[in-house]
Amino acid sequence: MYRQGLESLPTYDVSEKDWKIKLNANESNLNLPPLVEERVIARLGRVAFNRYPDTEMDDLKDLIARNFRLNEENVLVANGSSEILEKLFFAFGGPKRSIVFPMPSFSMYNIYAKLSESEAKVVPLEADYTLDVKKFIQAVQECDAKLAVVCTPNNPTGTIIPLADIEYIAKNIDCPLAVDEAYVEFYGISAASLIEKYPNLIVARTFSKAYGMAAARVGYMLAGKDIIHMIGKACMPYHVNVLSLAAAAIVYQMRDEFVPRIQMYVAERKRMFEALEKIKGITVYPSETNFILIRYENAVALNEYLESLKIGVRSFGNAPGLENCLRITIGTREENDQWLSAVKAFVERS
Ligand code: PMP
Repeated sequence: MYRQGLESLPTYDVSEKDWKIKLNANESNLNLPPLVEERVIARLGRVAFNRYPDTEMDDLKDLIARNFRLNEENVLVANGSSEILEKLFFAFGGPKRSIVFPMPSFSMYNIYAKLSESEAKVVPLEADYTLDVKKFIQAVQECDAKLAVVCTPNNPTGTIIPLADIEYIAKNIDCPLAVDEAYVEFYGISAASLIEKYPNLIVARTFSKAYGMAAARVGYMLAGKDIIHMIGKACMPYHVNVLSLAAAAIVYQMRDEFVPRIQMYVAERKRMFEALEKIKGITVYPSETNFILIRYENAVALNEYLESLKIGVRSFGNAPGLENCLRITIGTREENDQWLSAVKAFVERS
């Protein structure tokens, strides 16, 4: 009854429960800063519900373009970076067309490859979750890939690809290179500065993480105007709703208000990393994101214990390269104290 392959496709399912502390989706555990929230609500009271959202779309694109010293024609706004990624896979992929990406990385790349009937070519990360750039370029060349995708800082490992390596990849491949920067605000170094130099470079960003707007579903892509124009053709008319666009414009104008909390998440990540490093039996991976990946022999039982305390983290079961790994989103200081002491208590008595 359904299109071939659809039934066997995994559902994107984060198995939500009645969590007391929710640390399983890398969201911001803080809602908008009060001053921003106030302005967003005031702005939403003035939207024209009867009109298609052209003006709001232009306003947001203009704000984003100006921040990156680009033009509006270098920006495409969408329903989260999810929509950007999906469209990229559809626009550049397709039957008998290869798309290369490293793994472990964002699980949706595999799903978008399947949905677009593209050939997914996976380059495994090294044991420390770094990317061997030469291997990556070779894989792209060998299959004459039509798109290469990297995620930096990477979900779920937290590791980065240095900017010089991104540049090296862009320079040495013939196809577009999409850089998924969903977590870049927690790192601070973006490939956006290279857009003008490399016409094959695409940067995908989101309001869902550092800007605490996961519910509004807003993301954007920066690229050369030809790519933006072509990907735009793959989008529905007026695909992003006026409420989200208007809210995102306020958030973007007020992004300085988010600096203290980004700094807090980064400081908390460091504090958690140092504390986890001291727990015998736990391997903790360096992270430049708002989450931390740990490996523990009995991760299944640890996850069950955390669940019993209504602390929700992300467990990867036996996913290749992520065996016995748990990914924990950095929350507020109090939340972090709670999950850390739960982890300590479990490991110490095992
Ligand atoms: N890229 C990565 C690496 C992510 O982790 C996520 C969210 N989990 C996304 C893209 C999609 O985020 P959104 O659609 O909310 O922008």
